[in-house]
Amino acid sequence: MTHLVVVGASLAGLRAVEAARRIGHEGPVTLVGAEEHLPYDRPPLSKAYLDRSAEPPESVIFRTEEHLRGELGVELRLGSPATRLDTASRTIRLGDGATLPYDALVIATGGAPRTLPGSEGLAGVHTLRTLDDALAVREALDAGARTVVVGGGFIGSEVASAARKRDLPATILEALPVPLVRSVGEATGHACARLHDAHGTDLRCGVTVESLESADGRVTGVRLAGGTTVPADLVVVGIGVTPCTGWLRGSGVPLHERDGGVVTDATLKALDGVYAAGDVVHFPNPLFDGELMRLEHWTTAAEQGALAAKNALDPGNATELATVPYFWSDLYESRIQFVGVPRGDEIRAVSEELGEDRFLALYRRGDRVVGVIGIDRQRQIMKFRRLIQQRASWAEALEFAGVPQPTQARR
Ligand SMILES: Cc1cc2nc3c(=O)[nH]c(=O)nc-3n(C[C@H](O)[C@H](O)[C@H](O)COP(=O)(O)OP(=O)(O)OC[C@H]3O[C@@H](n4cnc5c(N)ncnc54)[C@H](O)[C@@H]3O)c2cc1C
Repeated sequence: MTHLVVVGASLAGLRAVEAARRIGHEGPVTLVGAEEHLPYDRPPLSKAYLDRSAEPPESVIFRTEEHLRGELGVELRLGSPATRLDTASRTIRLGDGATLPYDALVIATGGAPRTLPGSEGLAGVHTLRTLDDALAVREALDAGARTVVVGGGFIGSEVASAARKRDLPATILEALPVPLVRSVGEATGHACARLHDAHGTDLRCGVTVESLESADGRVTGVRLAGGTTVPADLVVVGIGVTPCTGWLRGSGVPLHERDGGVVTDATLKALDGVYAAGDVVHFPNPLFDGELMRLEHWTTAAEQGALAAKNALDPGNATELATVPYFWSDLYESRIQFVGVPRGDEIRAVSEELGEDRFLALYRRGDRVVGVIGIDRQRQIMKFRRLIQQRASWAEALEFAGVPQPTQARR
């Protein structure tokens, strides 16, 4: 009986154990998690969960313990991280000293937030990745904190949005001249900046954070290069994540030279018997000419978790993951959605051409549409996802977006 071990008890790990049972795997399944919590959903942590009227912590738990242990027959090893992988003997060492043998392994350990130097142990400074982080941030908002977010990415922007919804002052400090420019390009970055502006968030771009100021072990402000200090009771640091792969060092599992994420092939295989899924993995996406991608998107983590388990249990029939990345973010009353990849030869903000106030931008690579971002364009966005999946041409995408094409104009 093949023993499937999944390390990382969050979205990708959960989908892996669920898929194993769904495809009829009857052997033992073990789910190992560093956190004490049952697998839970992260997107609400920076959105509804920060509202004053938020649901209790259990509301984000995906499945009950009875379901996981009873119905799915999963052995749960929560609160004890994997500390070492030995691929020769096919064993995993756990934090509690136990050694766990496996036949097939899925690595789904996600990422850990980067921190600011000098922030350790300082009250009022948080990252936002876990349920415990979200509880702490919510408590600070409940106390009426002046909020400063370091980093203008989506999670930080959502925190600022949550503070403004409560009418609390919120400032975002971003090093680049436009927020989100690296992840979605300049036009979209400007559109998000306008959203912040319209809702009273003080977005400061092109600034360098020099240090955190504190009194009696509690943060009081953020000092910028040039000498300005932004007063703060709550500082949320949103400057990206690092894949959790320290436990894989020396195991032979290929790790990416830049960030240490697990590198797999398109079937999510890292080594014989070892697969990876979710935020931790770089995989070559066949839909984009094998471009190596590490995505931090909910939908991809779910897809990858299921596929990694299926392929790990039946490697002879392994299939590749050819997927159009998708993510969403909620800022104020708006929903931002992105499909595809943001790197192209051209980015066209077509809503401006069409004179519409809701934002839509298309990303071209060669003759093909490779990405689309929309703000409050929920009806269109999944249709664009299908177009990208079908490798639609740039002209087809523009036509679908409503931009008149030369042949149409002549008619
Ligand atoms: C606040 C927040 C908001 C988000 N909002 C959105 C959104 O709006 N839209 C969207 O598309 N995506 C969003 N995401 C991203 C999405 O939640 C992630 O892509 C998804 O959680 C990735 O799942 P994962 O299982 O790969 O990794 P993770 O969710 O990071 O889980 C990895 C798990 O592995 C555990 N672990 C780490 N090391 C070890 C070890 N050595 N041994 C055992 N366990 C270990 C960790 O404790 C963790 O529980 C958001 C993420 C966050 C944090």
